[in-house]
Amino acid sequence: MTLSFTLTRNERLAEVSTREAVLTDPGFGKHFTDHMVSIDWTIDEGWHGHRVEAYGPLQMDPASAVLHYGQEIFEGMKAYRRADGSVWTFRPDQNARRMQRSAERLALPQLPEADFVEAVRQLVQIDEAWVPSGGENSLYLRPFMIANEVFLGVRAAQTVRFMVIASPAGPYFAGGVRPVSIWLSREYNRAGRGGTGAAKCGGNYAASLLPTQQAVANGCAQVLFLNEEGTDLEELGGMNVVLVRSDGTLITPDSDSILDGVTRNSLLQLAEDAGHRVERRPVTLAEWRDGVADGTVTEAFACGTAAVLTPIAALKSPEETIGDPDAPAGPVALALRKQLTDIQYGRAEDPHGWMVQLTEAR
Ligand SMILES: *Cc1c(COP(=O)(O)O)cnc(C)c1O
Repeated sequence: MTLSFTLTRNERLAEVSTREAVLTDPGFGKHFTDHMVSIDWTIDEGWHGHRVEAYGPLQMDPASAVLHYGQEIFEGMKAYRRADGSVWTFRPDQNARRMQRSAERLALPQLPEADFVEAVRQLVQIDEAWVPSGGENSLYLRPFMIANEVFLGVRAAQTVRFMVIASPAGPYFAGGVRPVSIWLSREYNRAGRGGTGAAKCGGNYAASLLPTQQAVANGCAQVLFLNEEGTDLEELGGMNVVLVRSDGTLITPDSDSILDGVTRNSLLQLAEDAGHRVERRPVTLAEWRDGVADGTVTEAFACGTAAVLTPIAALKSPEETIGDPDAPAGPVALALRKQLTDIQYGRAEDPHGWMVQLTEAR
């Protein structure tokens, strides 16, 4: 069955010159394409009203549940233009399924995978001209779901909207990949046992903003959170963390309260393909500290869709600095980063069939 989306074209498309100016220097998350996708859900009708329409402000009742109780989830993915002009995306099934898991935790309805992937396809096809080319440019895709029932009672909303918007994105590292220092948050946790840490929800991000401000005030790019006990690594505000050992083993936290990143899973798969051992298990802060001191932990990196892979030079806290803030990027991290981006931009073979084509070559 082909899902059918109603199309109402934007009659006031951005001027070509405006679009070209945006695509020359897109930045991140500042400019949006001409259209957006919406699908509504009600408890009586289920999912309905699949449509593509002009991008623009939503009319929202001030009593909409999401504005009060934060019943919201989102995804982040990208569309990549290849040298032949065609546009592809990366493992959309993984994002669709993760959104279903997030929905379950936030008591939101589960959107079928086919609807999710088709929504993304519809938006990229109609706004294909907004997909930048060259370098590490991409069109960032933001699917999200909000509780828009007009009701202040505290219970799961019975009226929900799923949407997809798109925003051209420039390279995360404009001047080449540069390792960062990250700040160890001792005061705050991102999530706790039984909480929403494994769901991609706005509330987790709201909780990470203050610790991130502290990280920036301490000269760091991002914050690293530990588990409730303050012993084990969890993840950054919006990226997973991986350590590399001198014997080539990659280790990454296994925890119920971290977000299961598609980028991390993919990088670890490529690492296994290349003969690295991969361990998913609790990873203590002491293991990082001692490993750097005795030379058995040689690299650390953060990973997520936006930046792909960011080498971590040092982990700072008021008590100590683990690593050398001026250290260059490690070879394992750089090789994995190149391998994954080469697959995403169609410059290398795609051995796992991760890429999904959205538009034809031109
Ligand atoms: C989105 C996200 C990640 C990275 O997931 P990807 O699927 O790789 O983009 C990691 N941690 C958190 C908290 C996130 O929200």
